Amino acid sequence: MSRIRSHRLGLLVLVLVVLVAACGGGDDEVDTGTGAGDATEVPEHPEGSTMAEIQEAGTITVGTKFDQRLFGQTNPRTGEVEGFDVEIAKLIVEAIGPDVEIEFVETPSAIRETAIQEGTVQMVVATYTINDARKEKIDFAGPYYVAGQDIMVPTGNPLDIGGLDDLNGKRVCSVSGSTPLQNVRTNAPGAEVTEFDVYTKCADAMRDGRVDAVTTDNVILLGLVEQYGAEVFEVVGDPFTTEPYGIGIPKGDDQFRTFINDRLEEIYANGEWTEAFKRTVGAVTDEIPEPPPVDRY
Ligand code: GLU
Repeated sequence: MSRIRSHRLGLLVLVLVVLVAACGGGDDEVDTGTGAGDATEVPEHPEGSTMAEIQEAGTITVGTKFDQRLFGQTNPRTGEVEGFDVEIAKLIVEAIGPDVEIEFVETPSAIRETAIQEGTVQMVVATYTINDARKEKIDFAGPYYVAGQDIMVPTGNPLDIGGLDDLNGKRVCSVSGSTPLQNVRTNAPGAEVTEFDVYTKCADAMRDGRVDAVTTDNVILLGLVEQYGAEVFEVVGDPFTTEPYGIGIPKGDDQFRTFINDRLEEIYANGEWTEAFKRTVGAVTDEIPEPPPVDRY
């Protein structure tokens, strides 16, 4: 009997030890005041900060794409928008407050800065390249991913397009207000350019034979290949630009930017970034990249 009792006592002690370890913070948990902390707890934010305001309101508007497979695309079955950008937004917002609801707002490339400046959205996570021209109007946290511009053609590559130079003299489609569009106009001035507001319209135009090539970030093109079929489109050549994706926020809100950057570092370290990547972009690649270092400019 006594042996059984001591066994039980041993078990009880073990359970208690496990419980204490699970509840208590580790020695390495330092509250910096701006850190996101454990997303399941209700965090305390500095008074008057954007995070405190959002927590108080219980809701946030987030701009994203609604037609970009892998990053932000509406699932017709559920009506919910899905993808890596959506996952990143959710991971950030859950650190502002676990009960904060996100209202996703469609923000095609050309309206992203305006949507932030006018307050239509409080944050944009939308395959949004960080660059100096945009930084004059808004600020960026991140980057949280690095893409590169590439070219998609009809499968079989009938016009033998291999790179940016080959776009001269061809009918090329990209999206208004995007960096790839600007790059084609500058570096392949002989291209006959068609612009739409979203990339699926470019893909439709190429499927119907109205354009010869579509150019934008490699991962967006891979999403289109997945969506339309590898027998319809293929991506050619290697990426020829660097497109670091940032989270757009209103200019000058350094506290909010620091909070998001801290949270990004947290999800890099705890594996949630990698899991989010695998669940989304992982559908088309086995290569799981390392998250890029955030730029606290
Ligand atoms: N990353 C590029 C940009 O921000 C192209 C993708 C997009 O248009 O969203 O302009």
